[in-house]
Amino acid sequence: MQTKYIFVTGGVTSSLGKGIFSASLGRLLSDRGLDVTIQKFDPYINVDPGTMNPYEHGEVYVTNDGAETDLDLGHYERFLDQPTSQANNVTTGRVYMEVISKEREGAYLGKTVQVVPHIIDEIKHWMLKLGETEDYDVVITEIGGTVGDIEGQPYLEAIRQLRNELGPRNTMIAHLTLIPYLRAAGELKTKPTQHSVKELLAHGLQPDTIVCRSERSITAEVRRKISLFCNVEEEAVIQMLDAESIYEVPLLLRDEGIGELVVDRFYPERGDDGRCSDTPDLSNWIGFLKRLKNPEETIPIALVGKYVEHQDAYKSITESFILAGVPDEVQVKVKYVPSEALSPDNVESQLGDVAGILVAPGFGDRGVEGKILAAQHAREQDVPFFGICLGLQCAIIEFARHVCGWDGAHSTEFDEETAYPVIDLMEEQKEISDKGGTMRLGQYDCRLQEDSHAHGVYGAERVQERHRHRYEVNNVLRYKLLEEGMCFSGVNPDTDLVEIMELPDKRWFLGVQFHPEYRTTVGNPHPLFRSFVRACTSYAHEEGLATSPQPPERKAVPLASVDM
Ligand code: GLN
Repeated sequence: MQTKYIFVTGGVTSSLGKGIFSASLGRLLSDRGLDVTIQKFDPYINVDPGTMNPYEHGEVYVTNDGAETDLDLGHYERFLDQPTSQANNVTTGRVYMEVISKEREGAYLGKTVQVVPHIIDEIKHWMLKLGETEDYDVVITEIGGTVGDIEGQPYLEAIRQLRNELGPRNTMIAHLTLIPYLRAAGELKTKPTQHSVKELLAHGLQPDTIVCRSERSITAEVRRKISLFCNVEEEAVIQMLDAESIYEVPLLLRDEGIGELVVDRFYPERGDDGRCSDTPDLSNWIGFLKRLKNPEETIPIALVGKYVEHQDAYKSITESFILAGVPDEVQVKVKYVPSEALSPDNVESQLGDVAGILVAPGFGDRGVEGKILAAQHAREQDVPFFGICLGLQCAIIEFARHVCGWDGAHSTEFDEETAYPVIDLMEEQKEISDKGGTMRLGQYDCRLQEDSHAHGVYGAERVQERHRHRYEVNNVLRYKLLEEGMCFSGVNPDTDLVEIMELPDKRWFLGVQFHPEYRTTVGNPHPLFRSFVRACTSYAHEEGLATSPQPPERKAVPLASVDM
């Protein structure tokens, strides 16, 4: 069966939500029984976002196979409940790197290597790659940036060529644009959309559907105008209104008929082979959404981190909190606490009113002492504590300093001279690190100790989790922490490196060297997040910290089709 390709482009401005649109469309199609994957092409020169500052680009999302990718892949996995891989995120930097290394190997047989055809061919190769595995009926490809950007042009040319080669039955172009509302005129304006469609046409691309982002419902008149001036049928003008929650978007789009638009084009004879059902079965999604929108109570949890001012920097963690609370009808209100500003004088006022503390991952020494202080506060006051990656490392440093009495204990990432390097590079890594450094990336095994808290939470002996770090718990000094009551409940069976630590005499005190936030999906919130949120909820009840549910921060037009 021929794989079908949907290309998603954006016009007018960035940040229109192409990622959420792609994830939602993917979900609508997979709920009709189709196998779908989503990939993102980013037109920047970085080979991957691994080295980019989270302020610049938001969180770096890590896949099972260890690719450092764009945070939109997190949305794809959470919405589709399916893992992605390196092949799902390609940048201009990677494309050029491949072409240049082929050129060095002499693969182009002495030809002049050019944007057309070599770069375009390489882009096309990556666009088709996942489709060629025959694992997918539909591949959705999101193109980063905005139509009209210089760096996006090769991608539009690649789509134009593929469209010709594969034909309109097998390809579709969805163009997202903004329909601004001018308050003074009291009108929705279509001109920016017309211009951005002209820009696409100049590259030889006629969109098949125009998805209008707008804060107000678009009128029949506006639909007619867009249809007339942008050469699409009226039914193909889809509105995507601002929603209270991103998880409402699949339903908003279903009501607009985008699913029919796609399957009528790709599978006009559907039903004959039972491959694609006539309607999506969204019952699970609707059940989830009802619980999400009708929580029983709200509990405050602190997220202590370096980049808290940037809302996208901890995207997977905040989504993991939301999704972990839903099955228990608990709404988590994240209190963002900048670790740099935490000091012994204000720790009580900053962290005294929360039902749990999560210390975030991070690199570099800014704010590390604040994270160590947060771990100390949690341990001493017995507040539920969850440390992720650097968060685990800080909990261990704190324990070494204040329980083992090892003054100045530290990670050699921050203090190379410390007498107690409880967090350190492994010998093998030290050698590699001299040559430019490398990280432990992607999925590794973790064996769980029987009778430990972690074992109970997972209900398994062995699990696999995703990593992104250089430093490890120092196995030479581990004995002392163990003697003082710390439990290393998860270790890597091949290397004996620590994966999970816990303090069994506390109500919930656990740190993980890996990143559970990358494995949370709508259908499967991560068990550690679920257990942590539950512990925080009981603590909130004891301490009187739970409140009645708070109205959503974003006000939007209510969902019409589902009674919430
Ligand atoms: N900086 C630490 C390390 O490299 C922690 C990394 C992280 O939190 N992801 O080991």
